[in-house]
Amino acid sequence: MRAELPKPGTVYLVGAGPGDPGLITLRGAELLSRAEVVVHDRLVHPRLLSMAPGSAELIDVGKKPGVPFDQAEINALLVSQARLGRCVVRLKGGDPFVLGRGGEEAQALKSAGISFEVVPGITSALAAPAFAGVPVTHRGVSTGFTVLTGRSGEYNTGELDWDAAAKLGGTIVLLMAVANREVIAERLLAAGRDPLTPVIAVEWGTWAAQRSVRTTLGGLAAAELCAPATIVIGDVAALDLSWIERRPLYGWSIAVTRDVAQAGELSNRLAGAGAEPILVPLLSIEPSSEMLRQLRDAAESLGSYDWVVFTSANSVESFLAHVRDARAFSGARIAAVGSATAAALKRHNLVADLVPQSYSAKDLASALVSDGRGEGTSRLLFPRSARARENLGNALRQAGWTVDEVEAYRTEPIVPDASGLSELARATAITFCSPSAVASYVELLRTGMLASPGSALAGYARGDRSEEPRRQILACIGPTTADAAAEEGLVIDVVARSHTVDGLVDALVERATLAPNGTFRAERQ
Ligand code: SAH
Repeated sequence: MRAELPKPGTVYLVGAGPGDPGLITLRGAELLSRAEVVVHDRLVHPRLLSMAPGSAELIDVGKKPGVPFDQAEINALLVSQARLGRCVVRLKGGDPFVLGRGGEEAQALKSAGISFEVVPGITSALAAPAFAGVPVTHRGVSTGFTVLTGRSGEYNTGELDWDAAAKLGGTIVLLMAVANREVIAERLLAAGRDPLTPVIAVEWGTWAAQRSVRTTLGGLAAAELCAPATIVIGDVAALDLSWIERRPLYGWSIAVTRDVAQAGELSNRLAGAGAEPILVPLLSIEPSSEMLRQLRDAAESLGSYDWVVFTSANSVESFLAHVRDARAFSGARIAAVGSATAAALKRHNLVADLVPQSYSAKDLASALVSDGRGEGTSRLLFPRSARARENLGNALRQAGWTVDEVEAYRTEPIVPDASGLSELARATAITFCSPSAVASYVELLRTGMLASPGSALAGYARGDRSEEPRRQILACIGPTTADAAAEEGLVIDVVARSHTVDGLVDALVERATLAPNGTFRAERQ
């Protein structure tokens, strides 16, 4: 099946789902990745917004709780953006048509003659209970559910008949009901609902900050709750099939410090293991125009080399972007240092001829020399980082090889802003995927912008209620990065064995699960 491409001048009313970026539909994700303008609510996950192209304009029309937003203004904005001929994604929390005023936006578009498409989303009315382990219907317990707003007064449909709602039986799911919970509970009790009826309120359902409060209808008024919350009233709320707490990195917030363009995969894997990924890039990867020219030249004369050596996935990606035709490699053999580098080549259907067991430049040089093919006369191309620590070139030149080194990419350190720094400071763990990320981090420590990871971290993991002081965990994707960190005197707790994103996540999971002294183990239920 091939979905229709987004059209200019069209508005797509897309349900973003309740928070967790994995809960957007495939169609929604596709449209988002091709949007020219994204008009979004306040409660949309930042990682979803990062799926929009870098060139897309992001317009936040979210209202703060309690401050009525001007729906007419939003409608007018959608119409005017579409009239500019842009492809507009209107990204709305949950489902656009469930208590989200998406219907009004569609009406406005219809009367302005603008074409639109509606992409349903997973409503928090269903996702929040599901993520809290409460099925809204259950054999022998509840045969249906009623979704109601706690602010029906604002809907111009007259006050809701709470008597009828109470008498209908089954499960009642309330959205936007935190402020009016006392009145609603009173009405349902007055209509004859049992004060002992189980209730679960799920705050920030599906987000890393998800919290459930279990109470009864009689206790709802006094329960301490914060918006956004979905309140589920009925016997199903007594069921406890909670599962998110069982995910291995539940309760961990983990900083991803690599370049934004590369952060997505690690963030998604961490989230999949139950952690909250925190994106604080400490470096950016930018080739200069001079580099681009050299890379292009090197790519064009590729056929004249006997070997091409890659020591990082970054150099693979930068260099191959300039290879127009795979046949350009002709007789050139390929050496790759590290399995992540070999994996990057594999993504381009290139299989490395040589992947040395160890990771030092010296070992690669001796592996190439002892390989014996073209000894002493070989021409070797080495696209590498501008700040490469490798002395591979010199080692090979000493062995009589002709080595051309070209700069494939340059990493520039990034100093995070105040909010980035506080995010880094609150993280349970910080991940490093390159020596450059380590260098940027060490600079933050050296200048005092960031406290040392050895200092105590209060309330480091939600699940952990012990009073012991905490230390941030530092995790490296492989030995090269870990060595660079060790040279700077950092104590590294986790080093991935397989030097890949998956390996890094596995190593963190192992640390979380095994935690020898129990210090860093998030409490499981
Ligand atoms: N269209 C949205 C609902 C918008 S009304 C949907 O389908 O989900 C906003 C209300 O939704 C909030 O007041 C809260 O009751 C609920 N809500 C939104 N996100 C939520 C979340 N992550 N967890 C729990 N409730 C949420």
